[in-house]
Amino acid sequence: MALLELNDVKVHYGRIQALHGISISVEEGEIVSLIGANGAGKTTTMRAIAGLLHSSGGSITFDGKDVTKVPGHNRVGLGVSLTPEGRGIFPAMTVLENLDMGAFARKKNQAEYDEDLDRVFSLFPRLKEREKQAGGTMSGGEQQMLAIGRALMARPKLLLLDEPSMGLAPQYIKQIFNIIKQVNSQGTTVLVVEQNANQALRIAHRAYVLETGNITREGTGAELAADPAVKAAYLGAD
Ligand code: ATP
Repeated sequence: MALLELNDVKVHYGRIQALHGISISVEEGEIVSLIGANGAGKTTTMRAIAGLLHSSGGSITFDGKDVTKVPGHNRVGLGVSLTPEGRGIFPAMTVLENLDMGAFARKKNQAEYDEDLDRVFSLFPRLKEREKQAGGTMSGGEQQMLAIGRALMARPKLLLLDEPSMGLAPQYIKQIFNIIKQVNSQGTTVLVVEQNANQALRIAHRAYVLETGNITREGTGAELAADPAVKAAYLGAD
């Protein structure tokens, strides 16, 4: 059984329908990428999975449970952790305090907490160097590392990454994607949405294309990267 399964999920914002019944699945251990243009519904999909907005139809199953009606704060406890678009770190709090907030929803177990903090610092040595610095004074790339680090502090089974490369300088973009691969190889399942389709398909086991609220293509990362229609629409510039 898949770790995450969306079956015919629909989302409306008032009278506007943003998702027209999408079905996607993520198997345990996979990196799955969802690519699509501006406004295709990528963020909406992530927010529906995280339980931050209600779906108006269809169902979402996570880890064997129907979570369609489970509120977002309870989904964190089940193992779903979202790094939102724009990162959403706490700018006035230090790096360490931000990471601490990520562990908040979990039962405090000091040994596990220390282990997770060590893991985050070994993935992102920069965060260790800057643990007492206010999050808001870090560079864009560093803030993205902090946002991912904070999500990992919740020890998720499924890490949701919404546009992790957005606004980053090129040297950080490669680094962030390599870190996503590393996090995955350490056992965390990843669903990533991206406009940077080249990188997103490079790291993906499987991927989906989302167009105006519909899934229009799916395949392995390599299959989609070689698909002429995907190439023409998404793989031009980078
Ligand atoms: P981007 O890459 O630009 O963030 P996206 O693929 O993440 O785009 P969404 O943010 O999910 O797209 O938006 C999907 C559609 O839903 C868009 O047409 C958008 O205008 C609309 N939408 C999103 N949020 C709202 C809202 N709060 N109220 C009304 N419409 C919304």
